[in-house]
Amino acid sequence: MNHGKEEKPMDQAFSQAVTHMTPCYQCGTCASSCPVAKITEHFNPREVIRLSLLGERNEVISGDAIWLCCSCYNCHERCPQKVHIPHVLYMLRNIALREGHLPNIYSEFGSALWSNGRLVNVSRFVENKRPILGLPPLQPIGLEALRRILASKGLDKFQKKEEVQ
Ligand code: SF4
Ligand code: SF4
Repeated sequence: MNHGKEEKPMDQAFSQAVTHMTPCYQCGTCASSCPVAKITEHFNPREVIRLSLLGERNEVISGDAIWLCCSCYNCHERCPQKVHIPHVLYMLRNIALREGHLPNIYSEFGSALWSNGRLVNVSRFVENKRPILGLPPLQPIGLEALRRILASKGLDKFQKKEEVQ
């Protein structure tokens, strides 16, 4: 299906992901096993696979659906064709990340990780509770090492995002 848009040749990464989906015969077992599909109409693993197999690359990669899977693996365990759906979704997410299609919430997590080394800042109130609960004090964050790891995976783009703001 092309809806009149210009057809683009599939890139290698996307066609690799599609290769993992080719055994799918659209039975819908994944969708009926998926806890996320039960609560939102915005995600249906069978539909992501259908669009990918039809070559609707941009719709799949730039959409939010691929980010909604919670990696419960129900679908993978039940698929009669042994399609590893979570793995396929990770592949699609990697492509989306490389191309800058990241939902805002994940960009915010990335920026927080880059600037503070934590996804969520720990308040003084929570920190003061630790000894009462028998927990050791928080250790300092190795921010430099963490940033090196993020940069080695191309995630220094979160730093750039910060600089733009
Ligand atoms: S359960 Fe497997 S074969 Fe059935 S639609 Fe999902 S991926 Fe395709
Ligand atoms: S792994 Fe993802 S797609 Fe599969 S059932 Fe769980 S939430 Fe749904």
